[in-house]
This record gives sequence, C-alpha cells and structure tokens, in this order.
Amino acid sequence: KNLKMHFPIYSGVLRSRTGEVKAVDDISFDVFEGETLGLVGESGCGKSTCGRAVLRLYDITEGTVTIDGIEIGTMDQQTLRGYRPMMQMVFQDPQASLNPRMTVARIISEPLEEHTDLSDVDKLARVHELMDAVGLNRDFANRYPHEFSGGQRQRIGIARALALNPKFIVCDEPIAALDVSIQAQVVNLLEELQDKLGLTYLFISHDLSMVRHIADRVAVMYLGKVVELAPRDALYATPKHPYTEALLSAVPDPDPSVENRKERVILTGDVPSPSNPPQGCNFCTRCPKVMEICKTVDPTTVELAPGHFTACHLYTQTTTMTADNTVAQE
Ligand code: SF4
Ligand code: MG
Repeated sequence: KNLKMHFPIYSGVLRSRTGEVKAVDDISFDVFEGETLGLVGESGCGKSTCGRAVLRLYDITEGTVTIDGIEIGTMDQQTLRGYRPMMQMVFQDPQASLNPRMTVARIISEPLEEHTDLSDVDKLARVHELMDAVGLNRDFANRYPHEFSGGQRQRIGIARALALNPKFIVCDEPIAALDVSIQAQVVNLLEELQDKLGLTYLFISHDLSMVRHIADRVAVMYLGKVVELAPRDALYATPKHPYTEALLSAVPDPDPSVENRKERVILTGDVPSPSNPPQGCNFCTRCPKVMEICKTVDPTTVELAPGHFTACHLYTQTTTMTADNTVAQE
C-alpha cells in the first residue's frame, strides 16, 4: 500500500546528493492467495524494483507491505529472517543467479542450510524431492550449473525457491533469458507447481502474450506508477488507459477477427527519466490523448468496473478546472 522506492542520486566531486530516482512512486495493489498477478511494463518502469521491495530485498522508502496479515514493510532484518521462508524469488537470469562453483545439490540446499536444522541425509532427501518436482534428473545432483542448459538452470533456480515451502513467489522475468522454444516449458512448470502447491505468484514480465497466458489479473506500470489494474480478460479486451492501449496494440492478437482488430498505436518520444518525471500525469509527454489538465494534475485512480482500476483523466469526468487553474472535484 502506497509503496515508494526512491533512490538518492549523488554527483560532483563531493558526491553530494543532487536528486532522487522515483523508481516506485506510491503504488498499491493486492495479490490474492493462489492467484498470479502479472506486473507488466517497459524496462526501467520500476517493476523489478517493486518485486524486490515487496520481498524486502530493499528497505522501502515509504508505504506498507503485508503478507498474510503480517506487516513486513517496516520490519527489521533480524525479525524478517523468520518470515523469509514464506516468500521467495525466481530470478531472470539463471546463469547469473547460480553460483558456478557449487553443485546443484548445494545450491538447492542452501536455503535449508540457512533456515532449518535438517541433517545431511534429510537435506539430500529434500533436494532429490525438489529435483523431481521441477523435472530434473536426481542423478545430476553432483553436477555444476554450466553442465545444464538454460531451461534446466531455471529449473534449478525454481527448485531452490521452493526449498522452504514458500507461499508467495516473485518471478522476475523468469523466462526472458531463455530460448523461445524453452519458455513455454518453464511457464507450464510454474503453473503446474502453482496448482500442486497452492502458490501465489507476482509474475513480472514485459512479454504481454506470456502474461495473458499465465496471469489472473494484470497490473500495468509506467514510470514508477501502476496506471491500470484489471482482471486479465478485461485488461486485454477493454484496456482503458492510453498507455495500456498502446502496449497492447503492439501485441499480435491470437484471434484477429476484423471487428476487434486493434489499431496500432505508435508512441513517440522517450520514456522520461524517473529522476525527473513530468508534472501532472507521468504519461503526458507521450500520450496520444493528452489534455490540458494532464500537464498539471496527477490523475487519481478510479474503479471503472469491479476490479478494473485506472489512473487517467479521461475517466475522472467530474474533475473541472476553475478560473484560477486549481482543480475542483465535484
Ligand atoms: Fe493521457 Fe491525460 Fe490520461 Fe495521462 S491522464 S494517460 S496524459 S489522457
Ligand atoms: Mg527488470
């Protein structure tokens, strides 16, 4: 709720503080038990930072993070340790996230080492169980990451994330580094594990086709803010925010019948820097539907249909500009 992640910028010889990057700027959302919430947006929009903040891999600047009714946003690292097992992360690049000098068995058992008092025999039994669960041959437990393919390496990463029976997993672009032919296998595995183990996912991706396949609901981020959040089908069929429309218009339609064919929206201009976001709506410098009010007033989030939220002045019809240029809400 109202999550902010602002990072200071230092510059000059004296490295004095000259500004801040608003990587995540006051965003709120729920992830319901057993669902997959897709978090989409272009690179640099703050979605990875958001995923890491939710897991408290960073100290958050402002806001709260509640998991299972427990407020972890402000918890000190010592206390947080006790809650670590329930929330885990699957990283984008399995190559970079696996220690090349460790055997697969060591990698997968690392969290067990850190958080349990299991005997070596029990740890190895658990490693074998996890390797079975992710479809890795347990005879390979003594091998090193480089002896596996990219897809298999991501399976190792997933096994490690599952070691402590988490409830909630942040998957940060889990397939982006994989060959297209392997991507579907890994996504299918994640779905299978979700069903079997009752997992809840925050699935971060820039791949809107993949998110359409895996997510129950989708949140769209632009420049540190969630601009639209909706049930999957509603978002893809009737996007409301001009940015979502533009993103979706670039995705090939699986059923391109003439009447619902989307017109391709080409966005011009660059994404502004999160250290210097525009006044008013963050999207106003690129929005094809920009209005005067957008350049001065940050739109509030409104619920247009049950569970379908967006932050855009096109839908805040009761907002009017008064003569002295301040805004009156009726
Ligand atoms: Fe575009 Fe204005 Fe809506 Fe922002 S508030 S998305 S600039 S129409
Ligand atoms: Mg990222």
